[in-house]
Parts: sequence; C-alpha cells; structure tokens
Amino acid sequence: MILIQGKGVSKGVVGGPLYFFRRFEREVEKQRAEDPETEKNRFAQAQAQSIKQLEDLAGQCREKSGDESAALFETHAMFVEDENYVAAVMKTLEEEQCSAEYAVAQAGKQFAAMFAAMEDDYMRAREADIRDVTRRLLNNLMGVAEGGFHLEEPVVLAADDLVPSETLQMDRSKILGFITQGGSESSHTAILARTMGIPAICALGDGLKQQYEGQWVYIDGETGKAFLDPDEQTLRILCEKIEKQREIKKQMENLRGKEDVTLDGHRIQLYCNIGSSEDVRGVLANDGQGIGLFRSEFLYLAASDYPSEEEQFETYRTVAAAMDGKRVIIRTLDIGADKQADYFNLKKEENPAMGLRGIRVCLNRPDVFRTQLRALYRASAFGKIAIMFPMITSVWEVKECRRLCQSVMEKLEEEGIPFNENTEIGIMIETPASIFMAADLARQVDFFSVGTNDLTQYTLACDRQSNDLGKYYDPHHPAVLRALKLAADAAHQAGIWIGICGELAADLSLLPTFLAMRIDELSVSPTAVLPLRAAIRESVAQTCTLEKLKS
Ligand code: PEP
Ligand code: MG
Repeated sequence: MILIQGKGVSKGVVGGPLYFFRRFEREVEKQRAEDPETEKNRFAQAQAQSIKQLEDLAGQCREKSGDESAALFETHAMFVEDENYVAAVMKTLEEEQCSAEYAVAQAGKQFAAMFAAMEDDYMRAREADIRDVTRRLLNNLMGVAEGGFHLEEPVVLAADDLVPSETLQMDRSKILGFITQGGSESSHTAILARTMGIPAICALGDGLKQQYEGQWVYIDGETGKAFLDPDEQTLRILCEKIEKQREIKKQMENLRGKEDVTLDGHRIQLYCNIGSSEDVRGVLANDGQGIGLFRSEFLYLAASDYPSEEEQFETYRTVAAAMDGKRVIIRTLDIGADKQADYFNLKKEENPAMGLRGIRVCLNRPDVFRTQLRALYRASAFGKIAIMFPMITSVWEVKECRRLCQSVMEKLEEEGIPFNENTEIGIMIETPASIFMAADLARQVDFFSVGTNDLTQYTLACDRQSNDLGKYYDPHHPAVLRALKLAADAAHQAGIWIGICGELAADLSLLPTFLAMRIDELSVSPTAVLPLRAAIRESVAQTCTLEKLKS
C-alpha cells in the first residue's frame, strides 16, 4: 500500500483511476518521425477535426446567444487554417523530421510570442487565441478531450496545481475528485471542488508521482489521505466511509423542504455559492433558498475571450429564472490575484493579491464593466437578481459603481429594454478598510456579504494561496471574528442585512457565533446546505454567545 498525506480540502471518499492533467505547452517533447508525409496527414486530420468542432461550437453559440459570441469560434477556425501558421507547421515537419504534435506546439509558441510582442492591445490579446487553437489541435492529435483528459471514463484528476481557469474548462462529469501536489484550502480550485461536491486533497507534495498514472487511487477528502493499492483493513475502512456517506446523504434528504429556523424561532437564510449556471442543479437538489454568491468571474475564466453581453445575459437570466423568484446575488467580475484570464493582459504584479483585482479592474475597464452591468440589469427583468461588488475599500468606489449602474439603467430605458430599477445593490466586506468604513458603506447599499477568505487573508496579512503559513491563516482568529461582529453591528444599525459567503459560512463550529451576531444569511457550497440546516434546527439562538471572540 502507498499512502500519500496531503490536506483535505473537500470532504468525501472516492476511488477511481488516477489521471494526470496535461498542460500541452510544457509537455510536448521532440519525437522523431520516420515519415513526414504521415505526420502531414495526421496534421490535416486534426485540422479538419478542429474546424468541424469550431463550426459546431459557433453554430450552437449563434443559436443560443447570437452572432457576436459565435465570432470567437469562427476566428479560431480561421487561425487553424491560417496560411502562415500552417506553413510554420509544415516547415518544422520537413526540416526536423519530428511528430506533428511537436511541429504544432512549436508553431503555437512562435505565433503566441509574436502576438504577445505586438503594440496594439487588440492584437496582443490574440495570443490567448493562438494558445487555444494550438491546444485544440494538440488535443485532436493526441486523441484527448478538451481540458486535457480522456473522456471515456471518470477519473481522479491529479496535477502539480490547478488554476481556476483550468479547472473550469474541464468536463465536470468526468472528474471524481482532485488531488494536487500544491494548492491550499482557500484557493479557488479547492472552492470549486466544494461547489461541485467532489472530494479533493491538496498539498500532497512529491509523494504524488506521475508514475502512478492509471493506477486505482482512493482519496479521502476529510483526512487528506490518498491510497494506492490499499491493504485489506484500509480498504474496509474506506468502504465503510463510502457507505456512511450514502447513509448521511439519505438522512439529509429528510431535511429538504424544512425551514432554516432555530428551536427558539430565529430564522436565517441559507443560500448557495455557485460559479456557473450548471451549479444551479446542485442548489435545487440541496434545497438552497437562494444564491448568495455567483462568482461571475468564472464565466470569464472559462472563456478564451471577453464574454459578450448576450452570453452573460443568457447565463444570468437562466440562473434567475431557474431560482424562480428566490434571490440571486451576482458578484461582478472579481478577477486578478489567482484568477487570471490571459486575454485581460493584466500586468504581472509583485503582490497580485494586493494589486489590480476585483472592483479595481472593473473601474479601470469601464467598457468591460458596462457590458456586465447591462447583462445583469437586462436579466433583472427575469427574476430576483441582486448585484454585489467585490474588494471594496472606499465609499467613492461604491458611489462610482452606483453611478455606472444608473447610467446603464438610463440607457436601457432609452432603448426600451425592460429591467428592475429596484435591483438590490450590495458589497463584499473582505478588506480591513471595509470593516473600518462599514458604517459609512452601509448607508450606500442594500446589503453586506462577508468574504471571509479574503478578510482572513488581509486581516492577518497571510496569503490564502500559501500552504506554508499553516496555522497563521486562521479564519477562527479572534481578529477575524471581531471584524465580522463590527460589520454585523454596522449593517444592523443602518437597517440593512448581512450575510457571509466566504468558506467560513459552512463551518458548523462557528454557527453559534454567527447566530449570536445575528448574521442574516449564510451562503455555502450546495452540499453544505442540508448539514447546516440540521445544525440550525438543533440550535437555540438565545443561548449562543460570542465566546469565540475572546483572545
Ligand atoms: C471571499 O473572499 O471570502 C470570497 C467569498 O470571495 P473569493 O473566495 O472568490 O475571493
Ligand atoms: Mg474574495
């Protein structure tokens, strides 16, 4: 038996074949090919296959969201056939007698570098398209699916680390769990695993080796242990855990349709965090009473170019309609730090978590922000949408956001497009500045939602992405809990409601503290709803104390 110890970041036990995520640009090694003609034919086939896929994608997009979104795939199809790109592939094949994979990877690198060096912003952004097209050609040459793994069977996906854009581009139905050498509990890939309700372990280090590929692995997302070839006793324990999981799931079913009320009648809203319209299925299945955080940036990360107004509108409308009048809080683009999309061409920063991210990017790119706001307001006519701004530190930022909202509404009015002019506006409380300014900020908005992942990071000056800081990243730290209390008091004094949408919201050990603070809403990953409901229904709010705020 081989036991690899890491850090469990999403609960659950699962077994499946281990498969390593492939990043083609790093992976393609030079291989000699005997016959350049065979390689040319292989390339031609991959080219035809890619064009067919892109035409199909363009067709689907046109049907769903109009010509604008289809244009991206049409452009990609043009790149696949681009004379210069193809000539570069042919030249390498002839001169270097290598595999088609290598020739394509070389052409991709050469053209990506060429676009990256261009002066013009638009042309520079085409680098991401070239990378995408190259990846597609390589996928087709290697016979693997988009996202880098075989489609035939579900796998436990292993990687050195995964950035959110990689995770988002995978076919979710084929992933049983994630295991990574690096990563941290608060990274967005861990958050995504929890949203998807699949087990995940990070920080497995060198113990996770490529040579294990193809072997059957069991992972326990609670203990952070991965097992290859488990001995009889371990296997029995794992099977018992899987059985217990099933039982708990069944028991939880009884809580569907029940109210989120404590024994003494205190009501709290239980909402869900999502990252895509697909996640709504999990929300409904777990009886979430609303969406407390739709991380809209995941739409941007899953795409290879700016999502159009039409595409976004379609997504927000679908979610709002599916939630059937229940509140859907959509956070505007929170890009930057670990959430990077190549086409934004954000400058590399020394301290990205403290750099141009969240609302700073939105206010810096009013064109991108306006597109999103228009899509949001248009969708507000189809359900109970609320808009939330991330990473707020100052009152002027909220005023500026409101001014932009106002001007978007005026324009829609002029165009005769319906929207809800009373759409609620809220902000994330996730910086120490927003805590100190909470009383002033509360006068500007309809609600607060506390992002405890970032609030912990910024309050404790502790990188949420790092694993080496161990106990220093402590969301239970009295400083974080006191910050929460200050925000809750400021909100209630101003007569607005306050929720928590950071990962801490699902922490059952803190439920009494949240009840004592009179937090109005908790937003958690869909699978955390029913266990939290069970705990709420067993609590007595009157007897809850603020004990945990003491040092
Ligand atoms: C947070 O910071 O707690 C939060 C909810 O947002 P994100 O994790 O996406 O930064
Ligand atoms: Mg945050």
